[in-house]
Amino acid sequence: MPPKRNTRQRAAIEMAFDKVHRPLSPSEVSDLARKSVPNLGMATVYRALNEMVEEGSLRPVDLPGQSPRYEKSGLHHHHHFHCTVCDRVYDMDGCFLKSDIQLPEGFKVEDHDITLTGRCPDCK
Ligand SMILES: [Zn+2]
Ligand SMILES: [Zn+2]
Repeated sequence: MPPKRNTRQRAAIEMAFDKVHRPLSPSEVSDLARKSVPNLGMATVYRALNEMVEEGSLRPVDLPGQSPRYEKSGLHHHHHFHCTVCDRVYDMDGCFLKSDIQLPEGFKVEDHDITLTGRCPDCK
């Protein structure tokens, strides 16, 4: 059994992802989790995020030229919007990829990754 303190820290980190439904950077996770565990250290946040990725409850969101964000795994197909002003990443529902893309003979698409960039309502 891990000490109780660690359990509380882990619960606070998990709660950040239940509260905010968008991909979170380690520092955003830390800001949210510190509301219930004020002395939470960044090393603990990174360790917990890595553990949760290994356990399969989180997955890293890689954006071009960005430090990784994390989101819950098992979400339905969606895309990400990166606000270039506040650096927050948002989930965009739906998919606008046209199915009439011309694939060369023998190619089969299995997945795609589209990141939108711009300004969120807070930064408009
Ligand atoms: Zn913004
Ligand atoms: Zn899509």
